[in-house]
Amino acid sequence: MFTVSLIICHHTKSTHFNILRTITSSAKMNIEFEMKKFNDKRQFTKALDLYDKYKHQSIITDRILVHALNACGQLGYVERGEIIHKKLSNDSLNNIYIQTSLIQFYMRCGRVNDAQCIFNESTSKTMVHYGSLMKGFKMNGMPEKAIDLFSKVTNPNEILLCLLFSSCAQVQTKKALEFGRKVWFQMPLINRKNKHILVATFDMFIKCGDISNAEKLFDMLEHVVIDYGQMMKCYNDHRLPMRTIDLYKKMKKEGIQPDKIIFVLLIDACAQIGIESRCRTIVKQIPSSMFNDLQFQTALIHMWGKVGFVKEAEQIFKQIDQPDPVAYTAMINSYGLNGLGYKAIELYYRMPVEMIVEKTHVCVLNACSHSGLVDEARFIFSTISMKNKWVYTAMVDCLSRLSLFDEAKELIEEFERHQSPCLPMYMSLLSGVRNQKDVSLARQITQRIQKLFHAMDKDLISASVLLTNVLAASGNLDEASQMRWNLSRSGAKKQMGLSWTEINDKLVQFRAQDRSHPRTKEIYEELDRIESELIEHGHKFDSSWITRPMMPDETVASILNSHSERLALAYNFIQRPIPSRIQIVQNLRICGDCHNAIKLISQIRNCQIIVRDANRIHHFADGKCSCNDHF
Ligand SMILES: [Zn+2]
Ligand SMILES: [Zn+2]
Repeated sequence: MFTVSLIICHHTKSTHFNILRTITSSAKMNIEFEMKKFNDKRQFTKALDLYDKYKHQSIITDRILVHALNACGQLGYVERGEIIHKKLSNDSLNNIYIQTSLIQFYMRCGRVNDAQCIFNESTSKTMVHYGSLMKGFKMNGMPEKAIDLFSKVTNPNEILLCLLFSSCAQVQTKKALEFGRKVWFQMPLINRKNKHILVATFDMFIKCGDISNAEKLFDMLEHVVIDYGQMMKCYNDHRLPMRTIDLYKKMKKEGIQPDKIIFVLLIDACAQIGIESRCRTIVKQIPSSMFNDLQFQTALIHMWGKVGFVKEAEQIFKQIDQPDPVAYTAMINSYGLNGLGYKAIELYYRMPVEMIVEKTHVCVLNACSHSGLVDEARFIFSTISMKNKWVYTAMVDCLSRLSLFDEAKELIEEFERHQSPCLPMYMSLLSGVRNQKDVSLARQITQRIQKLFHAMDKDLISASVLLTNVLAASGNLDEASQMRWNLSRSGAKKQMGLSWTEINDKLVQFRAQDRSHPRTKEIYEELDRIESELIEHGHKFDSSWITRPMMPDETVASILNSHSERLALAYNFIQRPIPSRIQIVQNLRICGDCHNAIKLISQIRNCQIIVRDANRIHHFADGKCSCNDHF
């Protein structure tokens, strides 16, 4: 390609020097140009071949070295890059382009300390030095170091700001978010209008879960489908599915065409909301071409399972020619959630063995657990070769629900022989003990939880609440109320119980003792009627499900009657006509008193009631529940 020496031979000696200089300089430029071209096209080996061909000649420039180092870094050729580094002249070593190329090369090869040395030794650090080092830290999984480095820079440029925000997005801690937020708000307006900075900051707010600032930035962005998708995913991740639906409406108004990802996110939001009519409205808007897409079909199976419509899920599953592990697992889970344990097991055995993944084991064991199929669960558990903590937890849960506490404890011991204790296992055990009202065992487990997991406040509160319930249920009322006062005095916040239902396309949400709805008076009158009917049919209000101190003007019945799911239920009954099928979703586990009461109400009022709680779906009809009281 470069026939420098050949050309030279054809010229006389007198003009030799000038011509040589001209030709050499054009040859240098050609090599630089060709190497850059190869690198740009990611043909790094070709760039290095070219470098090797000329490296012993005097035509090697700093630019050529920069391209060679870049190629070495991209290919991870540490030794070759090091050789180049060692041969560098002092002049080259002082060249800022060479310095930054060396930093980038070492960072790409994972040699963080070497990169840092080059940076430290440089006497004239530029923004590119800082940027290269920050990018390298990020690349090597040390975004905290990138943030630290950023704080040493005055007047950072656009690139450094983008690197900072993406580092904060990678760290995702409160501290990183606070720092990123501070930089964002203190930045000159011109930077805040910069599109790249805006996108990086938006991403940081999304990843760190700062929804309100993410929303503000979203309004500043020129909207494209991908921004909508990011925002919707953020809402879904933070259990705000209604906002996903609202954003979709806005998207349509702006005339932006939703793609497959948007529809998958919408389906996920519908699954979270869990109300049939809402799901059907969205499904109707999906282009028919998407229904053949496996990812999409799987999302629909998951959604219908979570909403309590297994037949719909099954229909979609049957249409799939070659289900993948995710689709199989979604179907098994749908059966399990709806109390169809045998169907879940049947599909599990029909599934090709090589497709079974860890999540499948967990789902099938949960399905057994929800249907009380302990022998089947034991057998499946014994056949699983690689059991992780979630597999053990599912099995402990299954045993605990059937009050097989000794076996459950043995399993926990077996697990802890090789691995560190896992809180969800103890919580499953304690929930089972709670249902059996076994005080001494509940005390034992709570003490063990306190000893093992002292740092996890939120879960300890849940454990203490469960213990309080057991104490109350077994007649230790004084101790129980003392514990309740202690809990409320300590400022411990229990998760608030919420239930929602949909009437005339409007989602209505209730919390316990809620009096905020415009039709509150009618709702409470209906609850009084329901209470009389329940008493008439032999219902005994069970005070053991009351988890807070009672006020002087309250009764056991008045507290239980105004649990959020009962308010949602009464709200359905004051509609005209009364919905033929009532659907309620709640964020916590249904309490035993509500479960018994709703069973009876389904019989007295002759209606079908579907309640999804945090754990599973209950189909109430004719005085029975599909869970057979395994809740
Ligand atoms: Zn309740
Ligand atoms: Zn049930």
